[in-house]
Amino acid sequence: MSQGATATATDVIGPLRLDGRNAVVTGASGGIGLETARVLAAAGANVTIAVRDPAKGAAAVAAILSELPDAQVDQEALDLASLQNIREFCERLRRRDVPLDLLVNNAGVMFPPLTRTDDGFELQFGTNHLGHFVTTAGLLPLLLGAREPRVVNVSSAGHAMSGVDFDDPNFDRREYDKFVGYGQSKTANVLFATELDRRYQDRGLHSFSLHPGMIATDLARHMDTEDFNRLIERAQSRATHDGVDDDSDRPATGMPSFKSIPQGAATTIWACIAPELDTHGGAYCSDCAIATAEPWARDASYAQRLWEVSEHLTATRFVS
Ligand code: NDP
Repeated sequence: MSQGATATATDVIGPLRLDGRNAVVTGASGGIGLETARVLAAAGANVTIAVRDPAKGAAAVAAILSELPDAQVDQEALDLASLQNIREFCERLRRRDVPLDLLVNNAGVMFPPLTRTDDGFELQFGTNHLGHFVTTAGLLPLLLGAREPRVVNVSSAGHAMSGVDFDDPNFDRREYDKFVGYGQSKTANVLFATELDRRYQDRGLHSFSLHPGMIATDLARHMDTEDFNRLIERAQSRATHDGVDDDSDRPATGMPSFKSIPQGAATTIWACIAPELDTHGGAYCSDCAIATAEPWARDASYAQRLWEVSEHLTATRFVS
C-alpha cells in the first residue's frame, strides 16, 4: 500500500477490493469527501453520499457514475445542522437493514460568522462534532452489524487552535471567535474517535481521526484576506516559538504546503483500510501515518467528558 505525504487516495487503496462492503461518506458533494466516495466506489464498495443539497448530491453521483458506470453509489439527504434531519436520515438507513462497514464523518464548516444550528448549537461545534456524534449513534446498530466496522472522523491540524470548553461549547456566555470555534470542533472530532473506539473496540468497531493536509476546497468559503493573514501569522508563530509541528512537509515559512484533492483524501482512505491500524484504535493520523494530536485532544478524561456533554446536549444515547 503506497503511503506518505504525497500519496493519492488511489495510490493508498491500490488493488484492494471492497466489493460487498457498505460505506457512508458525509459531505461528499465536493472537496475531499467526493474524492473519498469516488475511490471507495472504484474499489467496489456500495457508497452512500450523505449531503444536504440534493442538487449537489445528484451532480456528485453523476460525476462518479460518468467515470465508473458500474459504481454502486447513491445519495441520501443529511443536514448535520438539524437533529431532526439527522434522525430521519439514520431512520432511513436503518430501514435498509444492511451492515455498515465504513462511516466517514467528513462534512465540515470552517470560520463562519456566529451562526446557530436549528437546535441552537454554534454552527461549527454543532455541525462538525454534535451532528456527527448523533449520526454515528443513529447508525451504530448498522455498524455493529458489520464484521470490522470503522468510523473515520476527518479532523484537522487546526485542532491546535483550541481545546473544548466543556462549560460553554456553544459560545452562549463567551465571546465568539471563529478560529477558536473551528479548533474546538476539530479537537472534538479527535476526542470523539478516541472515546468511540474505547467504548466499542471489544465489539470489533474501531474509530480514527485525521488531518487531511491543506487542500484548496470550498471549505475556505467564509474566509477573507484578513483571515488568511491571521492564519499565516499563527502558523509562523507556532513554527518559530513552540516547535509543535503536525505537518512534516511544513517549510521554513511555517505554512504547510498544499495537497491536491486526490492527495487530500489519501489519509481518510488509509484510516478506512490500513491493517496496521487494527492495533491502534482511536489513533489520530496524518500523511497516511499515525500522528500525535495536541495534549487537549489526547486526554482520555476529556474524551469521556465530551461524550457525556454531547449526549446531554443532543439528548442522544448510544445503544449497545
Ligand atoms: P468542502 O467545503 O469542499 O466540503 C465540506 C462538505 O461538508 C461539503 O460537502 C458541505 O456541503 C458539507 N457540509 C457543510 N455543512 C453541512 C451540513 N450542515 N450538513 C451536511 N453537510 C454539510 O471542504 P473539504 O472537502 O476541504 O472539507 C472536508 C473536511 O476536511 C472538513 O471536515 C474539514 O474540516 C476537513 N479539513 C479540510 C482541510 C482543507 O485544507 N481543505 C484541512 C483540514 C481539515 P455543501 O456543499 O452543501 O456546503
